[in-house]
Amino acid sequence: MFQLARQLYADTLRRLHRNPSIERPNPSIAMRCRICGSDDVMRDAWAQWDENAQQWALGSMFDAAFCNLCEADTSLAEVPLASLKEMPA
Ligand SMILES: [Zn+2]
Repeated sequence: MFQLARQLYADTLRRLHRNPSIERPNPSIAMRCRICGSDDVMRDAWAQWDENAQQWALGSMFDAAFCNLCEADTSLAEVPLASLKEMPA
């Protein structure tokens, strides 16, 4: 199961590499910490060296997330960008 998910993700990355406009969330989203709402968040991931591109490429991404503001593990909320722009600053 994990192997299948990994393969699907690798296929998606290859498609993204060829055409970055596809597979993007539509509408665009923001990632927010579910605890404090900060956008200063990260996900655990592995990078693989791409010999053709001569740069590291995202290989696998894991569920674990970290918030720099909370300085702790968290979970992430996907928020539509449009809804953020409607909010007063
Ligand atoms: Zn947080």
